[in-house]
Amino acid sequence: MPEMKGKKSKILNQKVAGLMILFLVGAAVLFVQGFRAWASEKFVLNPSVKQLPSNEEILGWIQDLCNFGYRRPGTEADHQAAQYILDKFKEFGLEKAHLEPVAMPLWTAEKWSLTVNGEDIPCFYLSHSYWIKEYEGFSAGPEGIRAEIVYVGEGREKDFRKVDVRGKIVLADVRFSQLYQSDSVGVAYFAYDPNNTAPPDWHQANPYSPNNFPSNFSRAAQHGAVGFVGILTDYFDRNTYYNELYGEEPCLWPIPGLWLSKSDGASLKELLQKDSTNQATLVLDGKIVPAEAYNVIGFLPGKTDEIIMVHSHHDAPWASAVEDASGVAEVLALAKYFGSIPADQREKTLMFVSLDTHFSMYQGHLALIKEIREKKMNVIVDIVLEHIGKEIVETDGKLVETGFVEPRGIFVTENPYLISLVSQAVERHNLERTVLLPTYTILGVPTDAGDFNRAGFTIISLISPPLYIYDLVDTPDKVAVDQLNPVATAFADIIESIDQTPSQVVSKQAWIPRYRFRYYSAAIGYIIRMLKR
Ligand SMILES: [Zn+2]
Repeated sequence: MPEMKGKKSKILNQKVAGLMILFLVGAAVLFVQGFRAWASEKFVLNPSVKQLPSNEEILGWIQDLCNFGYRRPGTEADHQAAQYILDKFKEFGLEKAHLEPVAMPLWTAEKWSLTVNGEDIPCFYLSHSYWIKEYEGFSAGPEGIRAEIVYVGEGREKDFRKVDVRGKIVLADVRFSQLYQSDSVGVAYFAYDPNNTAPPDWHQANPYSPNNFPSNFSRAAQHGAVGFVGILTDYFDRNTYYNELYGEEPCLWPIPGLWLSKSDGASLKELLQKDSTNQATLVLDGKIVPAEAYNVIGFLPGKTDEIIMVHSHHDAPWASAVEDASGVAEVLALAKYFGSIPADQREKTLMFVSLDTHFSMYQGHLALIKEIREKKMNVIVDIVLEHIGKEIVETDGKLVETGFVEPRGIFVTENPYLISLVSQAVERHNLERTVLLPTYTILGVPTDAGDFNRAGFTIISLISPPLYIYDLVDTPDKVAVDQLNPVATAFADIIESIDQTPSQVVSKQAWIPRYRFRYYSAAIGYIIRMLKR
């Protein structure tokens, strides 16, 4: 065996050496080509002194939005939120403020339960599962779906090879990926953490980025399972996880799905080992009806039709505060501030937007992109604000505040001017625990700016990944209140500087060799670690 291992590692070393040479040659060419351009582009941020709305005023708007109830896109609470934002836009002097309706299917669960070997298992529905036809209800029938339940580990392909799941209910552990600060900082344009409160080994489960879910769910369906039960192994010990859709088309998950908390999941796994029959009854009934979502749009005209767009989204899984009443409230703060400045003091037009359908299939986002293209609106940058939240951890089964703001990332299109500008604003307003991230990594732009980035817009997109944003516990006490005014002020500085800068400079996108070099070095290091494993 040692001989085999030696041979394998020799081939591996040759492969790695080949990759490295290829990479170094490419990097050297890029570096020489791009260095001169970069070295000549230095930018100074010199903003005016400004007074944005206070932390308390911004928090008040967040509380108002939360008071409407669960702002799921297409629901009454969501419509009330849109109307509220529209009224604020008008109050702040925005012109042509209006709602834009977007048609969407509204998926609603009405009844769900799980019984195994006669025992009721506490559960919560997996949102947008059991979706067979775009506009049709779903039902497990009057008796529910009765079938054997089988545990498939994490539900990777090799797990499904070991067990026949046809006609059965699949039970699987759902794992979240881990976010490591060292990974973010390794590829970042800039990192600001003056008190070193998010050191390289800081890490946290990432509730958004798909890991083995939803692929294990899709695999269960493909292998003929009649239901999927996911254990939230890396989550708080709760089951009210209102998952995202992970797609922009309907009917991705044709079988019913349920979530279990990690402790209920552990008990169920024990129960399955005791009994050999393992008969389960799964219920998931609900409806899918045509509905309308509403984007809210308003303008502050400037001397030119070059547009700086500022956006967030008001729809949410629950009466959610951080996701994203907080982002919308920051947009409102900026609208109020710039609305108080006379139009002749502004070069460019400001467009404020609150989008809907983040928790459907981004129909509102895609409709707006289409409209911008059709009307040939000259949007030179899209600035997006989301998730001004506290860091919360689970200790002895309780959710506790660490006293810090959740570490945040600002995705910035590859443009030396914007990177320089945003870095300076972050430092000036002491937005600690912030990294500026490129848009070209394997992560993409997992924010409300995702569609705009893919469509080629220049973006600046602030976000943070607290674990609670998909849960009922995302209440106003989770908002990092002391950050509301500083974040708004930092972005007001950014907008003011962009306003005074030629649009060709703002919307330019080009490779910056030194950052590309760092990213590809990090990526190769990662691949080498994977190969050696
Ligand atoms: Zn959001």
